[in-house]
This record gives sequence, structure tokens and C-alpha cells, in this order.
Amino acid sequence: MNHNSIRIIDNLAEITSYHDRHVLEKSLLKTLNELFPSQDLRLFRVRENSGAHELSLLAFCVNGVIVSSDENPRLMTEQSDLSETIFKAIKNADVELTSTENGKWNVVYPAFDANGVIFAVLLISTDLVPSNGDQRLIYGILRVYSNYLALIEKTQKDKLTGLFNRETLDNEITKILVRQGSHFSEQLTSPNDSRRRTFAVKYWLGVIDIDNFKTINDNFGHLYGDEVIILVARLMKSGVIRDDDLVYRYGGEEFVVVLKAPDEEDAMRTFERIREMVAAHDFPQINQVTISIGFVEVFAQPSPSDVIGEADEALYYAKGNGRNQVHSYSRLLREGKVKPVSQVVHGDIELF
Ligand code: GH3
Ligand code: MG
Ligand code: MG
Repeated sequence: MNHNSIRIIDNLAEITSYHDRHVLEKSLLKTLNELFPSQDLRLFRVRENSGAHELSLLAFCVNGVIVSSDENPRLMTEQSDLSETIFKAIKNADVELTSTENGKWNVVYPAFDANGVIFAVLLISTDLVPSNGDQRLIYGILRVYSNYLALIEKTQKDKLTGLFNRETLDNEITKILVRQGSHFSEQLTSPNDSRRRTFAVKYWLGVIDIDNFKTINDNFGHLYGDEVIILVARLMKSGVIRDDDLVYRYGGEEFVVVLKAPDEEDAMRTFERIREMVAAHDFPQINQVTISIGFVEVFAQPSPSDVIGEADEALYYAKGNGRNQVHSYSRLLREGKVKPVSQVVHGDIELF
């Protein structure tokens, strides 16, 4: 075995040693950068939305520095100036090359999932057109990425609903707390720059529980109950929330939604939309199913369980107050209707 093959095997072993998609994507670019040094590499996610393909930048590597959209969520919305080449590659489901003014080449490789659907594209800006051997190597590495990503996603999904399962939620909340916490400390060190906090993206977590679900099970049987869970999950995924908002099955008939919204009113409107949509849906045999929701901003809580605990507190309030309603933990707190759950009072740190 020659030296190059050993390096490739080492890199593949490295790629498949991570269970986090963002780390996996960074590791993929690291590998490609090692095999094809000093090039501009970009990995885009491709999503089909009513017939049109949408691109979002997942990760890039310039001069050996690799950044993923996990560390910089703004990357996700960055538009590519190379979209024409990329869309051609998607349309033809094949590698696409274009030369640039400064004598470089932009080479775009589609990445296929197990169903043969293009879910990502890799862009390499290079001085040299990759050889046939290079092309095969790149396609091979993209297949490893695709297969491994599918495996990771499978372990993160709930079997009944296809939503994310509970295991991945703690991780997600922790990431948001770290990210939001760093915005917060930046603000503390430059108190005059309050814009930072005002304009920073805010994350909201809602705990959602189906109302009187035991009655549904008792009257129509457990299997029918499962159908209701599937339908509610589908309703929540279908258009009420944005593509990059997340829905989890948290327990039996409990769900968690993590969404981005600029302020509490906006988050309230989205959660209200979810509630209304479920209440307005005509379920076979039982007609109406309702849900109750409690939500809170994911911001400065000490731990993920404190975030859930606060949203839960608002949910219990909704349950005790007639069900089929949405409540904000912070608002309830301001109105004195609930007591603080965690050490950190929302938006304010208790030092002692
Ligand atoms: P509330 O409005 O207070 O939420 O009333 P509830 O009847 O929904 O009460 P609770 O949330 O405590 O009960 C949930 C019930 O859901 C208990 C359990 O038997 C049932 N359940 C939990 N997981 C599943 C599941 O996967 N499938 C079905 N069919 N039922 C489940
Ligand atoms: Mg419950
Ligand atoms: Mg319930």
C-alpha cells in the first residue's frame, strides 16, 4: 500500500469517527483539503422547495481554515456567486466545470443520498482540472459522507414520527446556550453597544403536550393514539415553522420545538400558529385534538434542563388554565403568575 492510500484510509477513519453532522462536515473538508491542498472548498446543502433548489452553505475551507455553519449560523443564508455552475451540476446530476477570469477552475460535485437525490454539492476552486483518479476519489469520499450522514440521522430520529428524538435535544440546547452566552458576555464587556443583543438572533424553546390524550387512547385504542401522534407531528413540520427550526418528539405525546424569532411576540405568534393549526385540523373520528404550549427564550439558563423546566412551567400553567393555549414563561413571570424555576431570572443574572 502506498503512502497516499494510507493517508486516505486515515482520513476516512477520521471522518467516520464523529457523530455530529457539523463536525463530520468539517472533517470532510479537512480531508479534501489535505488531499487537494491550498484550495477554496465549499460544501452546500441542497434542498428542494416547491420545485426550486435552495442552497445554503454548510461549511467552507479557505487557506486551511475550516468554518461550519454551526459556528457561524449566518453562513447558512450566504448566497453563492457561483450558483449558475452549481445549478447546472444539480440539473445534470454530474460534475460541472467553469473557468474563471483569473485562470482558475470552479469544479462542482453533486453528492447523492441513498435514494439518488442530490442533498449537497461540493465546490472546489483550483488551478488544475482534477484528474480522473482525483474525481473518483472525490466521489468516493462524498459517498462515505452521504452514507455516514444517513446513519447519524437515523440514530437521531424517532421511529414513529421521523422527528428528532430526545437524545439530540440536550446537545442542541447546549450549543445555543454557549452561542447566546458569548453574545451576552460581549455585551457585558462593551455595555454601550446594546445593539449587539438587540439584533442578535434569538432562540425560543416550546414544550408541546397533547391535551387529554389519555381519553383518546381510552376511547379509540393505543394504535389510534399513535396515529394522532403521527398526525400532530406532521402538522407541526408542515409549513408552520421555518426549515431550520427544529421539532423533537420529547416523550409519548410531548414535543419540543426550537425556533428562531426576533422577539417574544414573534415567537408567541409562531407557537400560536402551531396551536391553531392542530385545533383546526379535522382528525378522523374524533374531529378535534388540541395542544398546550409553554415556551421560553434559550438564553442564559445554567443548563438545558433549566430551559426545559421553564418552558414546562409555562406548559403546566396552560394545562391548569383551560388547555388549548400558549404561554410564555417570561410573561407569566412578569405577571407574577409563576415563580422562577432556575437561578437565572430571565434577562438578568442573580449574582448571589
Ligand atoms: P393533559 O391534557 O393533562 O396532558 O392530559 P393527558 O391525558 O394527555 O395526560 P398525560 O399527558 O399525563 O398523559 C399522556 C398519556 O399518553 C399517558 C400514556 O398512556 C399515553 N402515551 C404515552 N406515550 C404514548 C405513545 O407512544 N402512544 C400512545 N398511543 N399513547 C402514549
Ligand atoms: Mg404528557
Ligand atoms: Mg397530554
